[in-house]
Parts: sequence; C-alpha cells; structure tokens
Amino acid sequence: METARTKETITVLRRLIAYSEKIFHLSRDVVASVSDRRLKPRISTSLVVKSSLVMFWSRLGSLNALELTAGSRFWETWLDEPVCSADSIGRVYALLDADGLRQGIHHIYDCLKRNKALPDVHGIGVAVLDGHESHASYLRHCSGCLERTIHFETGDRVQFYHRHVTLMLLPGVTPGREPLRLLLDHEPQRSGENEVTTALRLLKRVILAYPRAFDLVLADALYASAPFFNFLLAHHKHALVVLKDDRRNLYSDAAGLFGCTAPAQGRYRGRQCSWWDFPDLLSWPQVNSPVRVIRSLETYSVRRQLDKRHESQTSDWIWATTLPVWQAPTERAVALGHHRWDIENHGFNELVNQWDADHVFKHDANAMECFLLDAFLAYNIFHAFLALNLKPAVRAVRTQAFWVSLIAAELYRDIAPSSSSP
Ligand SMILES: [Zn+2]
Repeated sequence: METARTKETITVLRRLIAYSEKIFHLSRDVVASVSDRRLKPRISTSLVVKSSLVMFWSRLGSLNALELTAGSRFWETWLDEPVCSADSIGRVYALLDADGLRQGIHHIYDCLKRNKALPDVHGIGVAVLDGHESHASYLRHCSGCLERTIHFETGDRVQFYHRHVTLMLLPGVTPGREPLRLLLDHEPQRSGENEVTTALRLLKRVILAYPRAFDLVLADALYASAPFFNFLLAHHKHALVVLKDDRRNLYSDAAGLFGCTAPAQGRYRGRQCSWWDFPDLLSWPQVNSPVRVIRSLETYSVRRQLDKRHESQTSDWIWATTLPVWQAPTERAVALGHHRWDIENHGFNELVNQWDADHVFKHDANAMECFLLDAFLAYNIFHAFLALNLKPAVRAVRTQAFWVSLIAAELYRDIAPSSSSP
C-alpha cells in the first residue's frame, strides 16, 4: 500500500513542478515569455524549454539521454505534445532568445524577494562574480569560441574554448533554513577582451535589471583593478576583492602597516584570528575613493590522516574594499571576504559536477549561452524547492543527490515498456 511517506518521495519531480507552477507560475510567467527566431516553427518553444528544464533537474547530461526518455508517461502530464528529438532541441536553442530566459530568472528572483526568501546580510545585499572556462577543443569551433595557441614538441596547435563570467546572489541565512543562493546571469567572454571587461558588461546589464538586489560585489584578485572598483563606485556599489602583491603600491603600503601595528584578536568559524584593518588608504590613486585593506591571519587545527595527530595550520587573507567600517566592522568584512568561495563551491563546482552544465549540448554560441541560462533557471528553482518547500525534518536526513536520484527514477520509471522496444 502506498503511504503518505512513500508518495512524498516517489513523486518529487511532479512535486517540484507543482511547486514551480504555484509559486512562480512557471509555464505562464517564465516559459511562455521565451521565444526564438524560427520563421515557421513546427515545435513550440515552450516544449523545448520545458524539456530542457527536466533534462537539468533529472541530471540526464545530454540531449540524446533526454530523447531516450521520450516514451515516459511523465511527459504527457508536463507537455501537451510529445518530447522532440535531440537535434530539434539543439536547433531551437541556436535560435532561442537569451533575454527571455534572463527575464525568467528575474521573475524567480522577484517572487522569492516578495516572499522574503532573500534577506540581506546585516543590511548588505551581497553578490559574487567570477570567470569560468566551460569547454575546450582542438577540432570543433563556433562563432563564440576564443582561441589560444598551445605549444607541443611536435608544433603549435590552436585550441578553441569558451569562457563566461557569472554573477551569483548570496542572500543572508534565515534561521532553520538552508542558504538560498541564486545564479542571476552570465556573460560570454568575447574574443580579444579580458575577463574584467566581460564582467563590466555583465554588471552593466545586471545593475540595470536588478538595481537594488545587491550593494557589494565579491571577487578574486583578478578584479583588484581600478576600472572594476570605479565602475561599482559610480553605480553606488562596493567592491571587496582579494589583494595580492601584484597591486604593488597598495599592497606594500599595507604590508608596512601590518609590520608596525598590533592586530586585534577575533574568531572566524572557530579559527583564532589576528586582524588588521586600515581604512582610507590613499595608495591606489587610480581608484576614485580611499581604499580599505583588511588582513586576517587565521590559525586552525587539522587532524592528519596518517597518524591522526592534530597539526596547527595558518591561512593568511588580505582583501581590498570600499566598504566603510560603519557598514561592515572587521569581523563582518572578514566573513564576507570568505564568501568569495561560494561561487566556486556552490556555483561552478556544483554546476559542472552535478548539473553537467559544461557539457556542449550544441556547439553554437547562442545555444551554449541559452543552455547555461536554462541550467541557472533549473538550479534556482530546484534550490528554492529544497530550501522552502521540503519540510526541514525531511530535508535534514536526505542529501541533494538523494532527491536528484528520485527525480531521475520518476522519469525513467514511467517509460512505457512498449516504447522501449526497438
Ligand atoms: Zn565555440
């Protein structure tokens, strides 16, 4: 007999979709707003977008794997027409409207914001951005490919690759709830430009679309550049970036101060820390504001695998920021600095290893941009479902992988035996 408990776990995909329709009106307000440039479409755009969302939620990994599930009875409840071929989905994505997908992501953000699921971090809206290389090949290339020459003993070869810059929103944590991080947008890096230029184009679009979503942007040492700081200052936003010694004047001035100033003592996640915090440094005249430099020298204990003995280790962090002390005292600024890793750990690593987001579903610049936006949409909805819809007691004893397995099982389980015959 099917109990309420088993029903809760065997219909996760249907529950995820029901949640999406109830909270986000997914079909009406997200999918229906995506169009494409086909002149005489035989297959609806919404069928293609909905199929791709299920491909990501089920972590199928390829359009061919999606096509193999065409006989699943699940599709009858989710689509009004049969799921189409892998080739057709690829062709439509090459002509899909990326801005329609971006509007869909914005709609998810609006609904979650309205439902107070995206609180600030002590009054500061926080976002993080970083670049990511998604794919490299010596053979296949498209109009969006970047090129580099790789030197081999046998001679030089041109390698083609794609990079993009992604922006992730890092809302505060509500007690008793998992952190809910949102992938807001990405921008492909163009031939001949550096990553900071790509990031500025991304930020320009995102700040226009989400003027009040964040006040602070976290980034790695590459972004310790005056154009990046000045762009954010001009838009009334702050930067907090890792500082390395290639930013010579600011770094060496701050290093001189570290040597002759006693640090404050504090703790970060159980680590004993020595903190130096110097606001209003003028050693970076290219930036249109004094810059604050913060250092956190952290000591912690690790247990060695070999002999199980505890060993003391240190890590040394230095950040440059325009955040004023009144808005983020040292302890808070150090915690914010560490959140720079969230986009690696919860963004790119999860997207690549769990969502197959680096897979080239179709090697076409527009298709690759749109499939990644679709992955962001699927990621945001899935994590909102886990954090906000599942009961905390149920969520606490199940891993994310468990729910993903059930979603895939639901899709495969419903494949009618006759449709699997050759
Ligand atoms: Zn390409």
